[in-house]
Amino acid sequence: MISMGWLGRMALALAGAMLFPLAAQAQAPAAPADALRVIFCGTSGPLPIPNRAKACTAIQAGGALFLVDAGPESTKNLMMWRVPVATVKAVFITHLHSDHIGDLGELNLQSWVAGRPQPLAVIGPAGVDKLAAGFNLAYETDHGFRKAHHEHDGVKLPLAAGVLKATVVTIPAPDGTAVVWNEGGLKVTAIRVAHDPVTPAFGYRFDYKGRSVVVSGDTRKWPPLAVAAKGADVLIHEAQNNAMTRQMAQGLKRLGNDRMSSIMADTVSYHTEPVEAADLARATGVKALVLSHLTQAGLPMFTPEAFTKGMDAGGKLDWRLAQDGMTIDLPVGSDEVRFGKY
Ligand SMILES: [Zn+2]
Ligand SMILES: [Zn+2]
Repeated sequence: MISMGWLGRMALALAGAMLFPLAAQAQAPAAPADALRVIFCGTSGPLPIPNRAKACTAIQAGGALFLVDAGPESTKNLMMWRVPVATVKAVFITHLHSDHIGDLGELNLQSWVAGRPQPLAVIGPAGVDKLAAGFNLAYETDHGFRKAHHEHDGVKLPLAAGVLKATVVTIPAPDGTAVVWNEGGLKVTAIRVAHDPVTPAFGYRFDYKGRSVVVSGDTRKWPPLAVAAKGADVLIHEAQNNAMTRQMAQGLKRLGNDRMSSIMADTVSYHTEPVEAADLARATGVKALVLSHLTQAGLPMFTPEAFTKGMDAGGKLDWRLAQDGMTIDLPVGSDEVRFGKY
């Protein structure tokens, strides 16, 4: 038997780490042959907490990747899980709060460097044109550096493919919808929701070969969303427990932080309580509800039991709390809802 000694073992381990740097961290759940897949790339509210990036829900369909929002830290998640970011075609923006847009520049750069062959579409309400133009300007110099340094032999980094390309969607009716993508069997419908004073704000419905998922975006409980989500397989809904929010506001006041206490108290008006999301999900008839954008997750007063107290009071419902890395597969040609995890 040949003993290689610690130096040899270390050299092998280092070589392995360089060749397969992320292999230990990412194992994609087995994918059905053809499916609508959801990947939770960010599940927290706006406050920084460990192990959850901010708002990001990825959808894979027909070999292409789409995102609903690109909140801070979400690109890191996707890349750590080895989701092929070069296949991203569009980011559907729900609204322009910072926890939904902060990683757009990073997503754009990383997916371009990885080989994305076309500009990245950014689709959403008024203001996404400024959003895209601003990130394009901020990253313009870096794009030049990357091209100058790395474009040689077979590697090409066309500047024209590296930009964000915005489409502003207008939905005049407060309870209206608009088809914003229809390609390769995937139809995406923007749904106006209610996140005043953030107006307009959208949710999105994805329909692919008979399977469908709806992402609420940020909204107070909004019955027209239930209408637009009728017949969908899964509803992914934001959630904020307002009793916890008030506790937090009171705690901040006791600590003398009147400013943050006041800001915290303001937020109870424009989010949806977990119990309200459950009622809405029952009204749609979806097969499953997943609560995401969990405002209090990770904070001291957060316990899943308290956060979701009363969810079952209105009747039977398959519901769960999202985690970063959770996946849902909706295989084409079946009515199965298959949960998994990176
Ligand atoms: Zn918001
Ligand atoms: Zn938000």
